[in-house]
Amino acid sequence: MTRPAPGGPVLPPMEVALRLDRLRARLDGAGCDALLVTSTTNIGYLTGFTGSAGLLWVDADRCVLVTDGRYRDQAPQEVASAGVDVEVQIAGADQRAVLTPLVQRGTRLGLEAGSATWADQRRFADWFSDADLVATAGLVEGLREIKDEGELARMEAAASIADSALAEVWPMLETRPTEQEVASALDEAMRRRGASDRAFETIVAGGPNSARPHARPGSRPMTHGDLVVCDMGAIVDGYRSDMTRSTRIGGTGTGREAEMLTVVLEAQVAGMAAVADGVPAAVVDATCRDVLTSAGLGDAFPHGTGHGVGLDIHEGPAVYGSATATLRSGQVVTVEPGVYIAGVGGVRWEDTVVVTDGGCRRLTRSPSTV
Ligand code: ZN
Ligand code: ZN
Repeated sequence: MTRPAPGGPVLPPMEVALRLDRLRARLDGAGCDALLVTSTTNIGYLTGFTGSAGLLWVDADRCVLVTDGRYRDQAPQEVASAGVDVEVQIAGADQRAVLTPLVQRGTRLGLEAGSATWADQRRFADWFSDADLVATAGLVEGLREIKDEGELARMEAAASIADSALAEVWPMLETRPTEQEVASALDEAMRRRGASDRAFETIVAGGPNSARPHARPGSRPMTHGDLVVCDMGAIVDGYRSDMTRSTRIGGTGTGREAEMLTVVLEAQVAGMAAVADGVPAAVVDATCRDVLTSAGLGDAFPHGTGHGVGLDIHEGPAVYGSATATLRSGQVVTVEPGVYIAGVGGVRWEDTVVVTDGGCRRLTRSPSTV
């Protein structure tokens, strides 16, 4: 979890070693003595281990990572370089033999309800027949919402790669490429700049396709007057960025498309201005929505205003109308209002921002111009 992007900036370390004790402090409140972590993303967050298979036992005293022979060298190395006090056990198919002795009669063992499958739950009920299994939700995900400086540096590096890739590819739009050609060029440009991958399937949607918020790039060439939505992000050392830019092929003009581009940008700027520590997420959503509603476009905005970003592209806190969360310094969220009108097209503007005490700081910095 501490590798820099090849050729990229040297990234400051993350505070991985502090995370286990923060989790331990939450166990009793969740009604558990121990937590069996099944989400590989959460295991990576807590220990630095980046393998795709494993189970992590965390109780007040011990932390045991059980994985298989493929990770015999990698797991101890990653855990050591993260500076985390974890016992690594290579068990292959015999995870049960390692884990069951950790349970005492009556141990309240938390499972991650969002990641343990029904089959997992039945298997663990069999393995840990002496324990009381407790469903938990968001114990590690809640910790992940507040990013440390090392995490922010990775997300900023990912955002910067996406900015630079978009600047390189943007002029291509005037050559009337297909959506797929633009999406491929963006993906390639991000990888060339050191992204380990794209943060999600890049969306390039032109003309009728732009009226779909989650369009997949197709083979239709762009034509004069098309609205185009490009939604993209990069991954650096596991951390993601998320950004959307919109335009009209052939220039903004003065018609309906120009109004959509302008008003949605106003909504997005207002939404970002509303973000600050202590502000309810629902207020940010309402701020964007009010601008669009005043312009008669409220009904054309069918999704929430934003979401948290980090190791996952969608994580907490969610920013939508009935959200109950209050924004906190160190959280990273998107602000991404959009309007979509069948027969006309769609527009979305999106930036990834860090919540600060007095406002927010943008991580994605590509210009938003109409
Ligand atoms: Zn996006
Ligand atoms: Zn997004």
